[in-house]
Amino acid sequence: MGYNDNMNKKKITIIGAGISGLYLGYLLEDKYDITILEARNRVGGRIYSISGNDMGPSWIWSHQKNVLKLIQELGLELFTQFTDGNSLYDTKNKLEVFS
Ligand SMILES: Cc1cc2nc3c(=O)[nH]c(=O)nc-3n(C[C@H](O)[C@H](O)[C@H](O)COP(=O)(O)OP(=O)(O)OC[C@H]3O[C@@H](n4cnc5c(N)ncnc54)[C@H](O)[C@@H]3O)c2cc1C
Repeated sequence: MGYNDNMNKKKITIIGAGISGLYLGYLLEDKYDITILEARNRVGGRIYSISGNDMGPSWIWSHQKNVLKLIQELGLELFTQFTDGNSLYDTKNKLEVFS
């Protein structure tokens, strides 16, 4: 999309570059000249990972049709959660093991 194409479009400003703001921009980008304002120095909002460890949304269920459709559109891949073996739940006071 070139600069001249955008000049003829109505301008829209979206506040917040979390998945909602980014997806709204993605849906409307053909019809509007869009600016997304983000308060932080990164996009993604609550979607975040630190050194490969996921700190935000990880699970998607089969009833979440919209996000499944978006994943397909974007050519992303899902993988099944690894559930073999024991799970550990670490709190300040104790470590619980679930089998
Ligand atoms: C630890 C964790 C685990 C989760 N696990 C899952 C999961 O497994 N499955 C699932 O479906 N969901 C999960 N969620 C929920 C999911 O992450 C959120 O529902 C989703 O990311 C919210 O997206 P959003 O765009 O609506 O809001 P946000 O991600 O909060 O984005 C809002 C953005 O707007 C910006 N902003 C706010 N105010 C302003 C302002 N005045 N000016 C400019 N920018 C502004 C913020 O900085 C932020 O970037 C999890 C969340 C967390 C924290």
